[in-house]
Amino acid sequence: MKLLLFDLDGTLLLTDGAGVRAMERAGRRVLGERFTLEGLTIAGGMDPLIYAEAAARTGVKDAHLRHESFRRLYLDELRVELAANGHRARVMPGIVELLDRLAGDPRVLVGMLTGNYAAAVPLKLGAVGLGLERFAVAAFGDDAATREALVDVALRRATLRIGRSLSRADVIVIGDTPADVRCAAVNGCGLLAVATGKYTADELRRAGAEVAVENLSDPSPLLRMIDSPDA
Ligand SMILES: [Mg+2]
Repeated sequence: MKLLLFDLDGTLLLTDGAGVRAMERAGRRVLGERFTLEGLTIAGGMDPLIYAEAAARTGVKDAHLRHESFRRLYLDELRVELAANGHRARVMPGIVELLDRLAGDPRVLVGMLTGNYAAAVPLKLGAVGLGLERFAVAAFGDDAATREALVDVALRRATLRIGRSLSRADVIVIGDTPADVRCAAVNGCGLLAVATGKYTADELRRAGAEVAVENLSDPSPLLRMIDSPDA
């Protein structure tokens, strides 16, 4: 059985910047007007690390003590942002059809691996009419210190879910950034890179992706990887 770990932003959906705007407003409320995400690599990042990096640049002492407040305010702001602009959020081409198709496939366990705070994920999915229940296991940005470490979190949850253990080689990471490519490579997982986010297929190949597609409207590259004995 293969464990598919879909990234969220840029892979399943795009929120048209709602997440970034909500983070910046929350950050300014917690740490003042100097808080900005400008110049940071957000795509492929982990929410807690994005906060830490942006907070460090404000010069505010002990900013880590305000992380919990930031997370709470961010979720409030994200709700406000999606209520106002959620209609601009969109699911990526082929995703709904692919998830429908995989839902009945006994060869796979459909999961998610994302740098988002766990509580942000249902909000973003809801904006495009998807539910977290489509994902049998998920690992979030607040589950580990690095994106790479989230693979083992997802594998442990998969074991609890299906009652037997899968290996890292059984995992296929599906993501839109070099961070997803690295996450798969470090863990010895299969990788399908998809150019629906900020990076082109060529850029993802240069980052090390062996398989990079424009979008998932043609599921056959992923289905071939599912069939392959060594993901
Ligand atoms: Mg992404």
